[in-house]
Amino acid sequence: MANTSEALKSEMPESKHDEKILEIKNLKKYFPVKSGILQRTKGHVKAVDGINFFIRRGETFGLVGESGCGKSTAGRTITRLYDPTEGTIVFDGEDITKKKERHLFNLRRDLQMVYQDPYSSLNPRKTVGSTLIEPLKVHHIGSNLKERKEIAQSIMQRVGLNPSFINRYPHEFSGGQRQRIGIARALVLQPKLIVGDEPVSALDVSVQSQVLNLLDDLQDEFNLTYLFIAHDLSVVKHFSDRIGVMYLGNMAEVANKKDLYHEPLHPYTQALLSAVPKSHPREVKKDRIILKGDIPSPANPPSGCVFHTRCPYVMDVCKQVKPVMEEIRPDHFVACHLHNEGTTTLS
Ligand code: SF4
Repeated sequence: MANTSEALKSEMPESKHDEKILEIKNLKKYFPVKSGILQRTKGHVKAVDGINFFIRRGETFGLVGESGCGKSTAGRTITRLYDPTEGTIVFDGEDITKKKERHLFNLRRDLQMVYQDPYSSLNPRKTVGSTLIEPLKVHHIGSNLKERKEIAQSIMQRVGLNPSFINRYPHEFSGGQRQRIGIARALVLQPKLIVGDEPVSALDVSVQSQVLNLLDDLQDEFNLTYLFIAHDLSVVKHFSDRIGVMYLGNMAEVANKKDLYHEPLHPYTQALLSAVPKSHPREVKKDRIILKGDIPSPANPPSGCVFHTRCPYVMDVCKQVKPVMEEIRPDHFVACHLHNEGTTTLS
């Protein structure tokens, strides 16, 4: 089994940290709102409304925002589970935006997802073995059942599952173990990028850190790149190299972890960070910023800056002109008129 694991590792491409594995340009995903007997389209829910970011090979990019901000839709659109409405997705040097389903075979292998709910994302009628062996067969990995079983058991062992449990069903495992099965399922095809859609938020806190540590170890071992979606900045704090903050379908700020946590520029990021509990007793806690009002509906987003209805620094220009993402300092991008040239800056 160890030999199979070594063989898998040797087939993995070397990590090149300066190379972009994923580039997202002006990505939009709108869902039609239909009503009436004829089900006519009356408008659109702008779940993702023109986001831009990139991920370097071998890094972890945290995509953060409150529930309903569009981050999960962004993840599903990037993996082409949803067809994009507009924009460009370049994965591993190839434009995959408009590829038809029948041409997505290789992409399905290279780009895998780990879902939030390990209870519903696994087929209750399939054993762990079937869950892991079937994709190997579909993608012609391993020449026979014996070899595929060895690969499956090797992956099970690597994610902390007893390989002798290969014939067990999902209900025979705990929540943390089921998420390990989900990770094994994503890993077994040797992907280049794994999109984790809140992969630990359904787990107990003690199990969360075990699964995060496992994902961290696997990244080094298998040269993986992660897009890690979370609703909480504290979850991605220790895990991400760079972080993007989303609000109402738009990207508010993208920065490396150090800049984002120590010098957040967007008022929304500042508010989110003020709600993160202290990770160390000596850490100076900033005053909590309470945002007024609720998140507006993505079916009827505010004009101009979509955050203007809740922003403590709102100016007239914010209500009319949508701010563009600008690189304020190396690797630190923000979409806010406070940081545009010729406007006020936060002191
Ligand atoms: Fe606030 Fe205006 Fe910046 Fe939007 S553009 S975050 S409303 S200051």
